[in-house]
Order: sequence, then C-alpha cells, then structure tokens
Amino acid sequence: MSFFRLKIPLPGMELGHVNVYVLRCGDGYGLIDVGLATYDAALSLVRGLKSLGIKPAEITKVYVTHFHADHITLAQLLAEVASPDLYIGEKELMDIATSFEELAKMYAEEYKRHGAPPDVAEAFLKVHPMARFRKAFEDVWKLDWRPVRDGDALDCGLKAVWTPGHTPGHVVYVADFGVFTGDHVLPKITPNISWYPIPDFNPLKEYLQSLRKVSRATKAFPAHGDEMPDLSTRVAELLSHHERRLAEVLKLLKEPMTTYQIAQRMAWDAGPFEQFDVYNKIFAIGEAYSHLLYLEEQGAVRRIEKDVVYWTR
Ligand SMILES: [Zn+2]
Repeated sequence: MSFFRLKIPLPGMELGHVNVYVLRCGDGYGLIDVGLATYDAALSLVRGLKSLGIKPAEITKVYVTHFHADHITLAQLLAEVASPDLYIGEKELMDIATSFEELAKMYAEEYKRHGAPPDVAEAFLKVHPMARFRKAFEDVWKLDWRPVRDGDALDCGLKAVWTPGHTPGHVVYVADFGVFTGDHVLPKITPNISWYPIPDFNPLKEYLQSLRKVSRATKAFPAHGDEMPDLSTRVAELLSHHERRLAEVLKLLKEPMTTYQIAQRMAWDAGPFEQFDVYNKIFAIGEAYSHLLYLEEQGAVRRIEKDVVYWTR
C-alpha cells in the first residue's frame, strides 16, 4: 500500500474524526493534515504512528489542505517532536493568517448587515473554532510555513492543485493513485461554502470552478469519511447539489429578503434552521450568502442597501 490512513478523533465536533494520511517519503514520512489540538487527538496521532512503526521524528513533511482547526492546529506538536517542512496553500497565508479579532469583527458586522440578530452575529466570537482554538492558532501561525502554489510538484510524489472555495487557499494533493481532497470533496456531506471577509472573493463561484478542476476518474481520499472510488462521480453530485440550491434560493425570493431570512427558509439536511444551535446557524447564513453572491454576479438577483441588505430578483 502506498499510504496509510489514521482516523484522528475530533472531540466536540460533529464530524467525529479527521483523516490524517501517512505517506512514505524519501527516507522519512509525509503527513496530509494533522488534526485538532486536543489531548485525545494528540494521543491518537502518536499512537497511530507507533502502530505503523513510525517514530514522530521520522515525519519530514506536513502538507495541510486548509487552515481549519481540525486540519492544522496539531501542527505545533509535530514541530516540537520532529522538524518537518510545513506546507499550506499560499492564499491561506496571505488572507487568513491575521488577527482573529479583526476577522471576527468583520464577520459580526457583515452578518448583522445581512439581517442576523446581534446574538447570532456576535456568537462568532465565542463558538467559532478559530476562537475556541485560538491559542493553538497563535502558535501555528508562528511556524515557518512554506507557501504552496498551484501546480507545485512536491516531495512524496505529490502535486498541489489549488481548490479555493471551502477556504480561500484550499489545496488538494494529487498522487498517481488518487487525490487527497481535504474538505474540497467529501463523501457524505457537502462542504460548507461561506462568505469570507476578503474583497472580490466569490466563494461559490470559486468552489464550482475548483470542483470542475478536479473532476477526474480516480480515487479520492477525503479528510472526513471513507475513500471514494470515483472522484468525478462525487464532483458531479456536488455540482448538481449547488444547482438545486441556487434554484431554491431564487424561488424563495418572491419578495425582498435579507440573507438571514433566506437562510431561515432554506431546506437544510440537518433539520429546520430555528432548531440549529448558533454555530450551525452561522454556517447556514454563510451558505445562503455564498449562493446569493453567486446569483448576484450572474445578474439573477440584486441587492437593496438599506439599514440592512435586502435581496430581490
Ligand atoms: Zn474545513
């Protein structure tokens, strides 16, 4: 086998686990994603490596797919016990690795402008993983990351492909036996595509382009869940999911509404919006917003700027 999968627990996260992939790489090993900065995850990673007969010090490369807490925050542990070269998409370093306060403030303001009640908007400061794993993020952003560019040929037989959408700088790593898709393509759920406080970043447009970019008949190894036999099949499902979502949003807009009102009315797999905890409400608002931004650029909807922003067809 050309690689191993370690299922690392995600305490307190609905996803349950994140996959850390281990590849033989020269005279050492490379990891794709590292997991969440918690005791359980750290123990699980060290034990998993041990079960494969690998000493942590033998990890020479770490490739992160994107900056989310469950993928990156354990990097500091690796940096302490080994001296791996650390890789992440260049755009994550440019657009995200800044002050959490600034980001959170921009989110709260924007969500209020889009009709979210203040308690929901401000919850971003408390419940978002970037807040809960703040200390780990502070450490992780101080590490010496090497920026990954689109098309870069990397060690361990990998090639990087930029896949912005789920995050602005998401990267998938392509091997000759399949693609490590991170959160870009997942087998069971549709990755969250949310608004980001970055000028001119149209997340859904970027995401759909990034999906088409990786649509190939090969195996896919996601960050959550089991391997997919054919990446192009799952890409086609995700593309049609967003087509349906775009049609749903347009249909809901019989009268002018805020992003929040649309999120309240959309049909969510997880149940009705009103029953969501504040964390999932934030994701739902972001998802509604990304679809509206896409429709706006297509000329299918336009915004009416009042004290809050309304959308109309
Ligand atoms: Zn993610």
